[in-house]
Formats: sequence, structure tokens, C-alpha cells
Amino acid sequence: MKVLIDMIELRAAMIRNPSLELPEALCAVPGSTGGLRSIRELALFRFTCRRCEDAPCIAVCPADALEKDGEGIIKRHTNLCISCKSCVTICPFGTIMTDFFRHHRNKDLFYDLHDHEEARKFVEACPPGTARFTSEGEKPDEYIWELNERVLIKDYMYVTEKE
Ligand code: SF4
Ligand code: SF4
Repeated sequence: MKVLIDMIELRAAMIRNPSLELPEALCAVPGSTGGLRSIRELALFRFTCRRCEDAPCIAVCPADALEKDGEGIIKRHTNLCISCKSCVTICPFGTIMTDFFRHHRNKDLFYDLHDHEEARKFVEACPPGTARFTSEGEKPDEYIWELNERVLIKDYMYVTEKE
């Protein structure tokens, strides 16, 4: 079973309640030694980000915490990020969710999706209608995309003409 996270509903929930503290799903990135990464952050940079050629988010970052990987996907080095939110402000498409940069996050709301019990707790902790288990796969017609072997993401994916 995979966890389906509905980013469209999550954004709507955050607009309705800006102080909402969302549970955070964590997952190891295959082939990476960077430890567990935020699923929502990976999803936003993979699917929603417009991959601007001269990325203003990278240019504005005072800590050199953002860079593009080989596929042009933005990556944030959390050990360098000073949470100034300049990247949030300058992104013309509102890609980056502000709660990534909260200084005091409730560690009880971090869940490792490799653990079945934690995955179950994560789904329960999400606002209603924003996460569920599924055995289905990608459904482009419904904006559902595979992030990795554990996670499906529902979001409006940005596609360039080349793709
Ligand atoms: S919030 Fe972090 S990644 Fe964004 S501009 Fe500031 S230091 Fe850079
Ligand atoms: S400015 Fe926004 S859309 Fe452009 S590369 Fe950065 S995060 Fe992506």
C-alpha cells in the first residue's frame, strides 16, 4: 500500500487555517546519503516548481542553501538554510510552503513512511481528506503522480513543452 498525499487539499487547508500544524511525512531518498527528507518538500520541487532557468529562489538565498540537481530539480540543504523565507517571497509561482521553515516544529508530528505503523499514524494525523492509503498507481487524469515506491502525490504538475 502507498500513501496518497493530496497537496491541493493541503494548500486549501492551510489557507483556511494559516496556523495549522501539518504532520510531516519523511522518507529516505533512494541513492542519497542525506537521511530522511520531507515528502511535501520533495513533491513541490519535483512536481509544482516551474524550474525557472535563472531561478530567483537560488539567487536570493543568502545562505547558498538552494541548488538544482542534475534534472533541474531544486534541492534545499536544510543544514545551511537559515529560514529567512526570502525564497518563499520571491518565487513568482508560490511554490514553496511556508511551514517548511518553522523554527519550532512539533517533533511528534514527524513520521517515517518506511514504518507501517508510523505511516498509519501519519494518515490519521493529516487534516481530513488530505491523505489516505491506496493500492492504485499513477492517474495523470486525476493529477496523481508517483513520488517514490511509498508515496503518491496529487497536485497540478507543471510540464514544460520539452517534456
Ligand atoms: S529560507 Fe532557507 S532556502 Fe529559502 S532563501 Fe532563506 S536560507 Fe535560502
Ligand atoms: S522561483 Fe519558484 S518556481 Fe522558480 S525555480 Fe524557484 S521554487 Fe521553482
